Amino acid sequence: MTMKFCSNCGSPVDYHTPDGDDRPRYVCDACKTIHYENPKMVVGCIAEWEDKILLCRRAIEPGMGKWTIPAGYLENAETVSDGAMRETLEEANARVKIISPYTLYNLTFISQIYFIFRARLMDIDFGPTEESSEVKLLAEMDIPWDEIAFDVIRQTLVSYFKDRPGGVFDFRIVDITQR
Ligand code: ZN
Repeated sequence: MTMKFCSNCGSPVDYHTPDGDDRPRYVCDACKTIHYENPKMVVGCIAEWEDKILLCRRAIEPGMGKWTIPAGYLENAETVSDGAMRETLEEANARVKIISPYTLYNLTFISQIYFIFRARLMDIDFGPTEESSEVKLLAEMDIPWDEIAFDVIRQTLVSYFKDRPGGVFDFRIVDITQR
């Protein structure tokens, strides 16, 4: 992300490698603040109910009109599992209990990390929200594979349905270095 002004003092920032560092940063020469930028984490879950999982049709960009599992940016001071539960409530108006971590995707080309859990739906009192125009429980045969909003979510669901017959859902870390 491009930065023009220092968020600490308002002076214009410069972009260069600080002394003793190994990569360029936005640096404020006025107040000497170095503005470090680090990856963002997206947390979410595959929410299970019998042989079905919860999918949301996105009411907002990116991917508006397409389907995804509940997921979104982790907030400061929030644990990853709390974040996944909060996103599920916000996007699907659904309450879940986390079962276990399932996939971690390093999307190094956009400096994002996706951390997806498996979770159990606590009840089926879910529904549309400001972020989701439709929320549905879908069996594997009904998953709209061509209309999944994000490739990383589609890959997670492919793994999930591959793992499910054996009942073993090993945690996996996948590195994706380019789009
Ligand atoms: Zn400054």
